[in-house]
Amino acid sequence: MTGTPPADHHHSAAAAPLSVPAAGVTLDTTVQALAGGRTATPLTKAFGIVTVGDLLNHYPRRYARRGELTAVSEVPQGENVTLVGEVLSVERRSMKSRSGSIVEARISDGHGILYLTFFNQPWRERDLLPGRRGIFTGKVTAYKSNLQLAHPDYELFEQASDAPTDFDAQQRWLEAPIPIYPATAAVTTWTIQKTIALALDGLGALPDPLPDEIRRERRLVGHRQALEQVHRPQKDASWLQARDTLRFTEAFVLQCALVQQHSAARERHTLARTPRADGFLAHFDAGLPFTLTRDQKIVGAEIAQDLASTSPMNRLVQGEVGSGKTVVALRAMLAVADSGGQSALLAPTEVLAAQHLRSIVHMLGPDRAAELRPLLLTGQLSAAERKKALLGTVSGQSRIVIGTHALLGDAVSFYDLGLVVVDEQHRFGVEQRETLRQKGDTPPHVLVLTATPIPRTIAMTVFGDLDVSTIAELPSGRQGIESFVVPLAEKPAWGLRVWTRLAEELALGRQAFVVCSAISPTVREEGEEGADDPGEGTAVSASGHPAAKARPTTVEELIVELRAKPALAGARIAPLHGRMTSEQKDLTMRAFAAGELDLLVATTVIEVGVDVPNASAMVVMDADRFGVSQLHQLRGRVGRGAVPGLCLLVTEAEAESMARQRVETVASTLDGFELAQADLELRREGDVLGGLQSGGRSSLRLLRVATDADLITDARAAAQQLVGGDPGLRTIPALREAVRRRLDESERAWLSKG
Ligand code: ADP
Ligand code: MG
Repeated sequence: MTGTPPADHHHSAAAAPLSVPAAGVTLDTTVQALAGGRTATPLTKAFGIVTVGDLLNHYPRRYARRGELTAVSEVPQGENVTLVGEVLSVERRSMKSRSGSIVEARISDGHGILYLTFFNQPWRERDLLPGRRGIFTGKVTAYKSNLQLAHPDYELFEQASDAPTDFDAQQRWLEAPIPIYPATAAVTTWTIQKTIALALDGLGALPDPLPDEIRRERRLVGHRQALEQVHRPQKDASWLQARDTLRFTEAFVLQCALVQQHSAARERHTLARTPRADGFLAHFDAGLPFTLTRDQKIVGAEIAQDLASTSPMNRLVQGEVGSGKTVVALRAMLAVADSGGQSALLAPTEVLAAQHLRSIVHMLGPDRAAELRPLLLTGQLSAAERKKALLGTVSGQSRIVIGTHALLGDAVSFYDLGLVVVDEQHRFGVEQRETLRQKGDTPPHVLVLTATPIPRTIAMTVFGDLDVSTIAELPSGRQGIESFVVPLAEKPAWGLRVWTRLAEELALGRQAFVVCSAISPTVREEGEEGADDPGEGTAVSASGHPAAKARPTTVEELIVELRAKPALAGARIAPLHGRMTSEQKDLTMRAFAAGELDLLVATTVIEVGVDVPNASAMVVMDADRFGVSQLHQLRGRVGRGAVPGLCLLVTEAEAESMARQRVETVASTLDGFELAQADLELRREGDVLGGLQSGGRSSLRLLRVATDADLITDARAAAQQLVGGDPGLRTIPALREAVRRRLDESERAWLSKG
C-alpha cells in the first residue's frame, strides 16, 4: 500500500470499509451501497461480485491460524500468496544511488525466510517489530537467491499483549481459524473479511432455501448460521459443519434450476417431425456405404422418437471421436427435411463448418444435395455470398444451413427451422442454444454433439437440462492409434528420432500433423478465429498449470526448421492456425484433404472434427501444455481410416511432474471416458467446468464434481421430487429466490464474458 499514511495503516487496505453495522442489508443489497465503490469495484472486477448475496458466496479458500506459520519453502514463485509469518528482523537503509530509503524485513515460518521490501516507507520499520505475527500477501519473486515479497500488503495480528492471558483462552486464540479468501492485489483477504463482517452484521434473519425436512434429514444447519460459521468460525468444527450445509445447498439450488428448465422445456409445444416412407432419410439409409453400428442405431431411434414428439427435443449425444456422430446428426436432419423443415448445424470454427459442408454434400450425393441445397453461413462471406445465403435460409430453399456463431445473428431468419444441431457442445453456452431455439416460430428440436466424454456428475451438473445418449462403440475396421510419450527431459536424443519416424510415415504415402501450442514467438497464445472460436488454443499453461519450459515451440519457427530437415526433403509442408484468414485455412484444409499436402504444422485449429482418413501420424510439441481431453481430441485426427494411427507426445516435463502425468495418462489409454475421469482427478474443478461451460468462470463454489458425485445425485433426486410437486417453487419462496439469483449470476458471468 504505497503511500498510505502510518496512522491509518492498521486498517490496512485503502478500501477497508467502516465497521459500522449497516441496517437493513439484504442479499440483494449491492456491495457498492454496503461498503462503497472503492471496495465494490475491485470485487466486481476480480470476482464478479455485485450483491451481498454474491459476497457471502465468496467462501474462504482456506483457514489460517495465528499459532501456525505457513511453510515458506512451499510458497510458489511468481504467484500471489497469502501466508502467516513471524517478523524476525527489520532494518532501514538509505539507497545508494537515489535519495530515499529501503525498509527490509525478514519473516519466517521458523525454518525458511522470506524478505519483505518497502521503498520510501520508513515508518514500516516501527511497525514490523521482531516477534510480531501477521498475514502477509503479495507476489513472490526471487531476489539474489532469496525469496521476497516486494511491497506486500499485510495485517499484523493483535499484539501478543492483547492476547488472552489464561492458557486455555490463549490456546483458543492461537487456534482460531482465520479465513483466507481468494483475493487480488487490489482487494486483500482482510478487506474481504471486513466487508463480509459488515454484511453479516447488517443482515437480518434469512429465510432458508432448504425445505425443513430436507435439512433435518441431512443434519444440516440453517442458512444464516452456515454463512456465519463459514466466514466467522470459532473453531474448525464450525466451518466444517457450515461447508456441508452450503455445499448441499449449492447442489440443491443448482439442481432445482436445472430440473425446472428441463421440465419447462418439455412443456413447450412444437411440431413433430417424422420421416416420409419414401423420403430423403429412407433413400439415404438405403444408399449408405456401411451399416450403422449398434449404438448409432440405438441413438438414432432415441432421436427419432424425440423428433416425433410435440415437445422439443433437448438431447446431448456423446461419442468418441470417429464414432460416427455426424451420420447420426445428418439422419436427424433428413427426417426433418422429410417433414418440410430446415436444420441448422452450428460448428465451433470456420474450418469445421466448411469441413461439415464438404462431408455432408459428399454423404448426400449430388442429387440429394441439389434438392436440399446445404449452404454455409459464416461471418467471413463476402456481401454477395452472404446475401445469397441469407436468401436461401429465409426462403426455406436450403434445408440444411451450416455455420458458426454467425448463425446466431439477428439478420439470419429461417423459413421453418425444425432442428438445431450444435457440434461440440463445450464451445457453446446454454444461452447460445437458447438464442437459436428462438429462431423458429415454434421452438426447434435441439441436438448437441460432443466428443468430450462427460462424466455422469458433470452431465448432471452442467448439462442437467439435456437428455443424454452415448455412442460407445467405434465403427469396425478402425486400426487404432498407438501413442508414445517422447520425454525430452530424460531422452533428449529422441527429439531427432521423432522426425525420422514422421518421414517414414510420409514415405508410405500417408499424411501427418504436427501440433504446436503457439503460432509465433510474438503471438504467445493461439489467436482466435475472429469471434468464431472463443476456446481455441487454450494451452494448459494459460489456465494455471505450470508448463515444462518457458517458451513453447511455435508453428512459424518449427515450419522453417522442418523444411530444412534432410529427412523431410520433398515433403509438402504448410501451416494452419487461427491467424490465417478463413479462406487461407479453408484452402489449406482442402489441399490437405485432397492429398496435395503431406504435413500440416498446426495449432489446435485442427482439434475437432477434421476428418482425413489418410492422415496417420501426429506429433504434439510441448504436449504438457495441453489438457488431457484436448490431447485426446487432437489424437482423434489420426487413425480414422484403414491405416493405423501414430501419436507422438513430445514433452520436456520432468518425469514426476503433474504436467508429465497428464501426458502419460493420455498415452496410456484410448478410452475417452477413462481419460475424462483421470482428467477430473488430475485437474482442478474450475478448469474442467471452465472448459465445458463457455460461461467463463466456473460458478460452482464448494461443489467438487470429481468427489461430490453422491451428494449431487442426492440433491438431484431431492430437487426432482420437490419440483415435481411444486414446479413454481411456490411453497418455498427463499428457494425460488435462490434459484433466481443462481440464474442471474450465470447470466451475468455470461454477459461479462462479452
Ligand atoms: P465423429 O463426428 O463422431 O467424430 P464422424 O461422423 O465424422 O465421427 O465419422 C468418422 C468417419 O467414420 C467418417 O468418415 C464416417 O463416414 C465414418 N463412419 C461413420 N459411421 C460409420 C459406420 N457405421 N461404419 C463405418 N464407417 C462409419
Ligand atoms: Mg464430427
